[in-house]
Amino acid sequence: MASESNLKSMAELTALCKRRGFIFQSSEIYGGIGGCWDYGPYGVELKNNIKQSWWNDMTLREDVVGLDSSILMHPTVWKASGHIDGFSDPLVDCKNCKERYRADNIDLGKPCPKCGSKDSFTDIRQFNLMFKTELGAVEDSSSTIYLRPETAQGIFVNFLNVQSTMRKKLPFGIAQIGKAFRNEITPGHFIFRTREFEQMEMQFFVKPGSQKEVMAQWKEIRWNWHLKNGLREEKLRWAPHGPDSLAHYADDATDIEYEFPIGWGEIEGIHSRTDFDLSAHEKFSGKSLSYIDQADGNKKYIPYVIETSVGCDRTLLAVLSDAYRLENAGDKEKERTVMKIDAKLAPVKVAVMPLSKKSQLEEIARKIFKNVGSAYKAEYDVSGSIGKRYRRQDEVGTPFCVTVDFDTLEDQAVTIRDRDSMAQERVNIDQMENYLKDKL
Ligand code: ATP
Repeated sequence: MASESNLKSMAELTALCKRRGFIFQSSEIYGGIGGCWDYGPYGVELKNNIKQSWWNDMTLREDVVGLDSSILMHPTVWKASGHIDGFSDPLVDCKNCKERYRADNIDLGKPCPKCGSKDSFTDIRQFNLMFKTELGAVEDSSSTIYLRPETAQGIFVNFLNVQSTMRKKLPFGIAQIGKAFRNEITPGHFIFRTREFEQMEMQFFVKPGSQKEVMAQWKEIRWNWHLKNGLREEKLRWAPHGPDSLAHYADDATDIEYEFPIGWGEIEGIHSRTDFDLSAHEKFSGKSLSYIDQADGNKKYIPYVIETSVGCDRTLLAVLSDAYRLENAGDKEKERTVMKIDAKLAPVKVAVMPLSKKSQLEEIARKIFKNVGSAYKAEYDVSGSIGKRYRRQDEVGTPFCVTVDFDTLEDQAVTIRDRDSMAQERVNIDQMENYLKDKL
C-alpha cells in the first residue's frame, strides 16, 4: 500500500496549477494584477465541467429554469438591493508601511502585522466593494454604473418575466451562472478570494410560511452535490449564521465550508432571504412584483426566496485541494503527485500514448486517439519516457492512459492504466469503447 498525504499548503497547489496549465496569474508578464487569475487549458475544462455539473443538477428538474442576465444593470438596482449603502467592509491602513487591512480581520490594539509599528492605524473607514464604471460617452454622476457584485439581482428583477413566460406556479426557481466583481480589500489565498469570480446562484420562490421546509430540502440537495463532485464528506461542514452574523434581510442562513489547507472556508451560502429583494425592487421601480396564487383563492403576495449561492472558483479550489495526493514521498522511484479528480470533472479523460515514435505504433495510436477523442476530451502524448508521461497525466488528473506497444501489432490490444490504482489491464482495441464507457 502506497503511503499517501494530502495537500499541505496553498503554495504547493498554486505551483502545480501553474506548472501544469490549470491557472496562471492574470497579466503575469506585466507583474500581475492583485486578485485576478486566468484559467489555462486544463483549468477551463475543469471549470466548464463544474459548471455543467451544477447546471445539470439544478435545471434537470421541472421546478427550476435558467437565466443569463447582463452584468451591467440599472444603477437603481443596487440602491434597492442595499449594495450602494451597505455593501462595504471596514478598512484601516498602517500609517507607517501603508499596508491595508480589513479592520475585522486584525487586532487593532496590536502592532501592525507587517512592519510591527505600534498605534499606527488610521481610523476605520467603510469601503464599498462595488467597482464603478461609466455608461455611455458622457462622464457625469448620472452615468455611473457598477459591475455586479452578485448575480442574484439579475434574477430578482426578471422574476415576473420568467414566471409569466414560462407559466410557472410557485414554488419554482431560477438558476444562473455568471461573473461577479468585488473590489476585495484583501484578496488572496490563491483563487479563494479574488476580485473577479464566477457565481452559480439559484433563487427559489416560495409561498411565505413554507421557507423553513424548502430551505431544509435545498440544504440536502446542495450538500449532496458537493459529494457528487467527489469531495470527501469529512472535509465539509455546516456553518450556520447566528443572530449576529445573519444579514438584515435573512431569517435563516447557513454556509457550507470546506477544510482548505488554510483552514475552513465558505464555499456556498444557503439563505432564506424573505421577501426583502422583491419588495425593495417593487418599491424602487414602482412596478408590482406580486404573485397571484391561483391554488390559494387568487391570494396576492410577494414570494419569499430561498437562495443557494456557490462560487465556481471556490468549488474548483476545493475540488483541486481535495484531489491532491502525494504518494510515497521521498522514495525516488515511487514518489508521485496525483490529482484524484472525480472522472466526471477531470479536464482530460483519456491520454493515448504510443510506446515510442515508431511509425507502426503511431499509426495505430493516432487512429485510437481519433476514435476516443470524438467521445471524450482526450490527449495524444508521444514525448518523453512512458513513466514521465504517466506522471504528467497523474498531475493533470487524467483517469485513464492507453498505451500502444509492440505487442499491439500482434494481439490488437492495448494497455489501459488506471490513474488511482496504477493497475494495468490489457484490452482489445475493439473492446476499448465499451471498457471506457463502463468506467467513465
Ligand atoms: P466571504 O464571507 O468569503 O466574503 P460572502 O459571504 O460575501 O463570502 P456570498 O456573498 O454569500 O459570499 O457569495 C456566495 C459565494 O460566492 C461564496 O460562498 C463564495 O463561494 C463566492 N465568493 C464570494 N466572494 C468571493 C470572492 N471574492 N472570490 C471568490 N469567490 C467568492
